[in-house]
Amino acid sequence: MSTREDVASRREDTQRRIRMALNAAKAEERASIKGGETTVAFVKEELCIGCDQCTIVCDDDAIELYEKPMASPIIQVDSNRKAKVLRDPCTGCRLCVLACPTDAIIMIDR
Ligand code: SF4
Ligand code: SF4
Repeated sequence: MSTREDVASRREDTQRRIRMALNAAKAEERASIKGGETTVAFVKEELCIGCDQCTIVCDDDAIELYEKPMASPIIQVDSNRKAKVLRDPCTGCRLCVLACPTDAIIMIDR
């Protein structure tokens, strides 16, 4: 029968393997996205849910959230926020692309 220590050890191994697999997948994804100083991030407004993840990861303060009125006056929500990239401070680092849960951010040529 497995002891508590065995279970804890197996759990740590599994966590380590999952972390390595996720890091590898992320590195692969990042390598496939163009970036650098000749590029700039762009938010596809219709996909943005205003979750604020991109502003948290952006070290260059290149993303702002703004309020957007709902298209239909029938729908009432407290807040309908969208992200906007400020072209000048954006360094093309791609962190926001990786952080966005809805794939709303793409990199475009500057
Ligand atoms: S590419 Fe980098 S610098 Fe530009 S908006 Fe995204 S996180 Fe900020
Ligand atoms: S992470 Fe994506 S969905 Fe969230 S606010 Fe930024 S652009 Fe919008």
